[in-house]
Amino acid sequence: MRLKVNITGLVQGVGFRPFVYRLAGELGLRGYVLNDTAGVLIEAEGEKEKLDEFLVRVEKDKPALSRIYSLRHTFLEESGCGEFEIRESREEGDKSALILPDLTVCDECLNDVTNPKDRRFLYPFTNCTNCGPRFTIINKLPYDRKNTAMKDFRMCPKCEKEYSLPDDRRFHAQPDACHECGPWISLYDCEGALLCEKEDALEKAVNLVRKGYIVAVKGLGGYHLICDATNEDAVSRLRQKKHREEKPLAVMFPDLDSIKKETHLNMLEERAVQSIERPVVIVKKREGTALAHSVSPGNRTAGVFLPYTPLHHLILKKLKKPVVATSANTTDEPIAKDNADAFSRLSAIADYFLSHNREIVRRCDDSVVRIVAERQAPVRRSRGFAPLPVNVPFKFSKPVLALGPYMNNTIALGIDDRVFLSQHIGDLDTPLAVEFYDETIKDFLRLFDVQPEIVVSDLHPGYYSTKYGEAHYADRLVKAQHHYSHILSCMAENEIAEDAEVIGFAFDGTGYGTDKTIWGGEVLISSYRGFKRAYHLQPYKLPGGDKAVKEPCRTALSLLYETFGERAKDFDFIPLSEEERSFLISMMEKDINSPLTTSMGRLFDGVASIAGLKHRVSYHAQAAIELEQAAERSDITDSYPVVVKNNMIYQFPVIDNIVDDLKAGTPIEVIAKKFHNTVVEIIVNVSESVRDETGITAVALSGGVFQNAVLLENTFRRLKETGFTPLVHQLVPPNDGGLALGQAAYGRSI
Ligand code: ZN
Ligand code: ZN
Ligand code: FE
Repeated sequence: MRLKVNITGLVQGVGFRPFVYRLAGELGLRGYVLNDTAGVLIEAEGEKEKLDEFLVRVEKDKPALSRIYSLRHTFLEESGCGEFEIRESREEGDKSALILPDLTVCDECLNDVTNPKDRRFLYPFTNCTNCGPRFTIINKLPYDRKNTAMKDFRMCPKCEKEYSLPDDRRFHAQPDACHECGPWISLYDCEGALLCEKEDALEKAVNLVRKGYIVAVKGLGGYHLICDATNEDAVSRLRQKKHREEKPLAVMFPDLDSIKKETHLNMLEERAVQSIERPVVIVKKREGTALAHSVSPGNRTAGVFLPYTPLHHLILKKLKKPVVATSANTTDEPIAKDNADAFSRLSAIADYFLSHNREIVRRCDDSVVRIVAERQAPVRRSRGFAPLPVNVPFKFSKPVLALGPYMNNTIALGIDDRVFLSQHIGDLDTPLAVEFYDETIKDFLRLFDVQPEIVVSDLHPGYYSTKYGEAHYADRLVKAQHHYSHILSCMAENEIAEDAEVIGFAFDGTGYGTDKTIWGGEVLISSYRGFKRAYHLQPYKLPGGDKAVKEPCRTALSLLYETFGERAKDFDFIPLSEEERSFLISMMEKDINSPLTTSMGRLFDGVASIAGLKHRVSYHAQAAIELEQAAERSDITDSYPVVVKNNMIYQFPVIDNIVDDLKAGTPIEVIAKKFHNTVVEIIVNVSESVRDETGITAVALSGGVFQNAVLLENTFRRLKETGFTPLVHQLVPPNDGGLALGQAAYGRSI
C-alpha cells in the first residue's frame, strides 16, 4: 500500500526531510520525500500498520523547529517505489501562497494563555505566526493585517515590537494582539443587555454552562451553542429549542483523556481527534458513558472533538467537563456569524451570549470525519481543510467553476492541477442558505482572482445551483449527471489516470438521471470522457415523492407492493392504517405523485422500515443509519440471494426473503446484517460480470450510502479478496459535499 502526504507549514529548512528519511528507514518503508512549492510531499510504501505508525509519528516526532499547518493524507495502491530517498525539490507549478485554513492554537500560545506570569494570561485571541485564524478573517489578499478583520485594532507597542522582530514567534503574525490592544469577549443576556466583559465574562459564562444554561459562543467561523454535555436537562432543552429531534450533537472535550473516558478510540481515531484540523470525529460511545442520553439518542456513536482556539481551551479548562458544541442555527440554516444576526436568530435558543468584537469575515462550520476501513473518511470537509485544494492527476487548461449539488452543497474551483473546494454551505433550501451560497461563489472568485471559463452544474433542472448557473453563466454552462460526478470525484482524488476506466458504484438517496427519473443505485462504467450506465436497481415507486424521504414506511409499502402485489394491503407490520395502505397503493397504481426511482438510499430506508426499525425519520438518512447500527450487532455472514440480469439488479427477491425471515421471528440485527451482506455481494457480483466483459478491475465507491461503515468495510474487504482494487473517498466526502470535485473534473474534459 502507498501513503501519500502533502504537508504545508514551516517544513523547509528545518530538517524535515532528513527526519522523514530516518523515520521511513526505521519502519522499513520505501518511497521518497521532497520539497515542493506548497511544502513537503511524501510518498511511502509498505504495510498498512507501518504506514499508520508513520503517519502518527510524522506529526508527533517532527523536528522541534518545524510547524505543520495542514496535512492531507490518502492511502493509495502501491506504485512500486524503490528504496526510500530524498528527492530533488519540485519547483514547477503555481508559486502563489495557498490561502490557509484557520490554524489550531499552537502549544506555545496555549502555554502563554495558561501561564499567570505571561502578559497574555487568559487572553482568548492569542496567536502567532504558527497558529490562529486565517480563512475566516481574510477580506482580500495579500494577507496583511489591513486586509483582515484585525484592521481596526491598532497594535500596542509591545505587540508592535514582537511583530517587527524577525526572531520573534509573532514576527509578521497578522492577527497578533493582546489584552491591551486586541479584541475582547463580552457576555450578554438573551435580550442583548451587556452583563460583563473580558475575564469576568469568561468566568461567568463557564458558571452559566455549569448551571445548565445554553450559551451561544462566538468562535472562529461562527457561533456554537454550548451546554453541559453531561446534563440531560440542558441537552434536551437545547434540542427542543433548536428543533433538532434526534440528530447527534457534537461534543467538545477538555482533553484527549476525557474523550477516552467516554468513547473508544483506535489509533487512527486518536490521530484524527488530535490532528491539526481538529475535526469532529465520529466514534463509539462507551457503555455507561457520562454523556447525556440526548447527545446522540438511539445511536451508538458520538461526534467528539478537542478545543481549537484559546477561547475554547479556556472555557473547557475551567469547566473540566465536556460540552455540547453545535453550530448555532436552527436546523438546516447556515451557522450564525454576525453579532446582530446571532442575537436575532438565536435569542429564542440561547440563554446567554459570549460574543466578541472581532468580525467573522467568512462562515466556516466544523469539519466531521470518521475512520472507516482503516482510512479517514470525510463526512463534512470545512474548517481546517477549506480552502486547501485537492491535487488532481490532470491539468485544467481553463479555470472551471463547479456549482455543486442541492444538498450539503460545496462549490469548487479547478485551477491548474488543483481543485479548491469551499467550506460547507449546506442544503440550498432556505433564503439564508441561498444568500450564503451566492456570497461564497463571489467570494471564491475574488479570493482566487479567476474568471471561470467553464461552469458546471448538476443536471437537475430544479436545483438552485443549476438555476444559478443558468442565470449567471448561460454562455459557458455545462451540466453533469449527478452520479457520474460522484464517480469522477472518487476517480480524481484517487489519482486515476487519464485513459483508465473504473467500475463506478454510485449509491445515494437521489440524483437526476439522464432519463429524467430519480437515480441512486447506479453502476457506471466510467472514464474521464464519459460513462455507460451498466446496471441499476430495478425502478420502483416513491408514493408521495419527497414525503417518502421523511417516511420510510411509504417506501417500505412500495417495495412490498412491487414484491407481493395486492397482498401488500394486508401487511400490517408497517405502521400505516388499512386506509393509508389502500390509498398509497392506489396512488402508485394511478401514477399520482409517485415518481420512479432506482435509489439505493431509499432501499436502505425501506428495509429499515420493513424490519421494524424506523418508519419516520427526524433527520436525513436516520433509518439507514439505524439499520447499519443494527447490522453491527450481528456477525452473521449469510446473505439473501442476489438476482442480477439484463443490466438490472433485482431487489424484490431480497424483500421476499426478508419478509420470510420476519415471519420466522429472525432478530432484526440478523436481518439487517444479511441485508448489508447482500448489497456487498451485489457489488462483488456485478463487478465480476463487468470485469469478465471488459477487464476493468478498479472499483470506485461513491455516494452518501458509502458513509455506511458496515457496508463500506465489508465491500472493501470482499473486493480485495476477489482481486479488485477498491477506490474510496479520503479527501472529500462520499456524500454530495464532495460532488463539486467531480463536477470540476467533468468541466475540464469539455
Ligand atoms: Zn501560536
Ligand atoms: Zn498588544
Ligand atoms: Fe448524491
